Amino acid sequence: MARIELSHIRHSYKPNPKSDEDYALKEVHQTFEDGGAYALLGPSGCGKTTLLNIISGLLKPSEGDLLFDGTSVKDYSTQDRNIAQVFQFPVVYDTMTVYDNLAFPLRNRGVPEDEVGRKTRDILELIALEHKAGSKAKGLGADEKQKISLGRGLVRSDVNAILFDEPLTVIDPHMKWVLRSQLKELHRQFAYTMVYVTHDQTEALTFADKVVVMHEGQVVQVGTPDELFQNPEHTFVGYFIGSPGMNILKCAMNGNQARIGEHTIELSGLGNPPASQNTELGIRPEFVRLTEAGSGMPIQIQAVEDVGRYKIVRGLLDGLPLNAVVPEDQSIPESAAVEFDTQRLNLYADSWRVAREA
Ligand code: ADP
Ligand code: MG
Repeated sequence: MARIELSHIRHSYKPNPKSDEDYALKEVHQTFEDGGAYALLGPSGCGKTTLLNIISGLLKPSEGDLLFDGTSVKDYSTQDRNIAQVFQFPVVYDTMTVYDNLAFPLRNRGVPEDEVGRKTRDILELIALEHKAGSKAKGLGADEKQKISLGRGLVRSDVNAILFDEPLTVIDPHMKWVLRSQLKELHRQFAYTMVYVTHDQTEALTFADKVVVMHEGQVVQVGTPDELFQNPEHTFVGYFIGSPGMNILKCAMNGNQARIGEHTIELSGLGNPPASQNTELGIRPEFVRLTEAGSGMPIQIQAVEDVGRYKIVRGLLDGLPLNAVVPEDQSIPESAAVEFDTQRLNLYADSWRVAREA
């Protein structure tokens, strides 16, 4: 397996790109360490597939370089890059049996037949298709075909990396969970370099050690699930990760004080207050305390959702939407107010987090 470096990669599908908007990837400068399990997380259209195809060589970037273990592979063919890629939709040979489909990548590389047998049987077990080994792929359902695709991506252990592009889209929810756990287990056993693309935060957070969050053709944060939860570097990360996402409230700064409507919140540890006028406070619903009016900032409650272990209170603070997560057994006051855990408050200027001392 290899360490993969994307060095100042930009990509436009247009022949003569001019402004930033013309680029599907604005600038990506990112290293995937050898043996790391990464998720590439972001909404549809943010550039995940573009990035993956640049790594595997299906796409040549407009600008920048790509290195495997320090060597530029920009001009290498897909074959020479030696990458396994699993796509969103099945890629299988319909006329071959399930077994032969899985054995194909090994035979193609001249692996001895007894080893082919061993590896193929391991993968058949992993994807739970032992009973279909001798069946032609043609007659199988979309989810079974996708499992074959996944298996083909996993059958070789001598690849530089395994790339997964939303591989479980057509798989049913239970099997999705099983396969995801198995992928994680495989990673633990063999320390493959894995990059797993998804738009689903649960999938990303359970699979990966490090999550790379993308937004509009840019990497906005790379972090552990905990880092992304605690300190989103960009308001998009705050909003996209979490359920519900982070509350983001427009505020006016005056020195160390943030003002929301008539309320003032003191922010400690702020070295230099931001020069920008475009400032927002971010607070996760988990760190909003719901109290009786009289202490804290009054809110108008609009809805209460009971989701089992906790309740989501949706309200308005000075006309701005604000969610709070409260324990299941807490009663909801008639006239309510909120308090923020100030240690958990993040300040953003032009959407980027402003550093504060602890
Ligand atoms: P994701 O995988 O995150 O959904 P993509 O990498 O597929 O995003 O797409 C990123 C952007 O590039 C989108 O705006 C998409 O419309 C555009 N795009 C993707 N593929 C092509 C293509 N072959 N030609 C032109 N534009 C494309
Ligand atoms: Mg895609």
